Amino acid sequence: RILAEVAVSPLPALIGRGALVAILDRSVTEEAEQMRRDFVANVSHELKTPLTALLGFIETLRGPAREDANARGRFLDIMEREAMRMNRLISELLSLSRVQAEERRRPSEPVDLAALLRSVLATMAPAAAAAGVAVTAEGLERPVVLPGDADQLTQVFQNLVENALKYGRSGGVLRVAMTEIAHEPQLRGPAWAVAVEDRGDGIDEIHLPRLTERFYRVDAHRSREEGGTGLGLAIVKHIISRHRGRLRIESRRGEGTRFTVVLPQGLDRG
Ligand code: ADP
Repeated sequence: RILAEVAVSPLPALIGRGALVAILDRSVTEEAEQMRRDFVANVSHELKTPLTALLGFIETLRGPAREDANARGRFLDIMEREAMRMNRLISELLSLSRVQAEERRRPSEPVDLAALLRSVLATMAPAAAAAGVAVTAEGLERPVVLPGDADQLTQVFQNLVENALKYGRSGGVLRVAMTEIAHEPQLRGPAWAVAVEDRGDGIDEIHLPRLTERFYRVDAHRSREEGGTGLGLAIVKHIISRHRGRLRIESRRGEGTRFTVVLPQGLDRG
């Protein structure tokens, strides 16, 4: 970020280009190093919490609960849930690391985005029905083909729909709508926009800029209750960036949230 500014603004005559860039470069490296340390600390904490619970229950099963079949059953259920949480966290960490490693390579296989979205909604239909959420889809009737990675784009929309169901209101509505943008200035060309919208509790504005950070959650307790890891939107952000697209988040407390994914129509732009 800072380096880009240096490149466009004229340098003061007395400071050599190399010296200034070197100083800024080091601050960027330090920032990256701090982020790496925070990430390792977060991962360790997130893995340690379920692990501590597991060890505690093993201890209890060996001692006080040994003869109590009822308690044993309950404890095993909790242990299974904690183990599944660790499993999910590790899968998402691997997914995030794969996506980050591939970020520079722009995907180019033709993907029918409309068919992909219909298939995501079909997969999520049982979960939506269980939550009593009415799903509406718009603009998915005819094929919309763009260059992309079908598995990763599926992951993006599955995540957004899952979040809308998790944090939306039970008995509420979920709307998925695709529209064409003739010219998206930021992408310097035509684009497709997919909105995933819920009528849930919404998110306070101060949280919005940080929502796609790894492990950032508005309500950590609620996220854990829902089986969340805090990595979903970070993965979403990196996949969209790999597709040279944009993610827009709009939300109003008490009214709902809209995530809009904007993807360029062709490979030659953006
Ligand atoms: P998580 O695994 O916690 O769901 P995500 O990265 O998917 O992690 O989302 C980060 C946080 O953003 C969530 O913990 C939640 O606080 C908030 N969030 C995401 N989607 C929504 C939504 N549709 N409505 C309200 N809050 C949301």
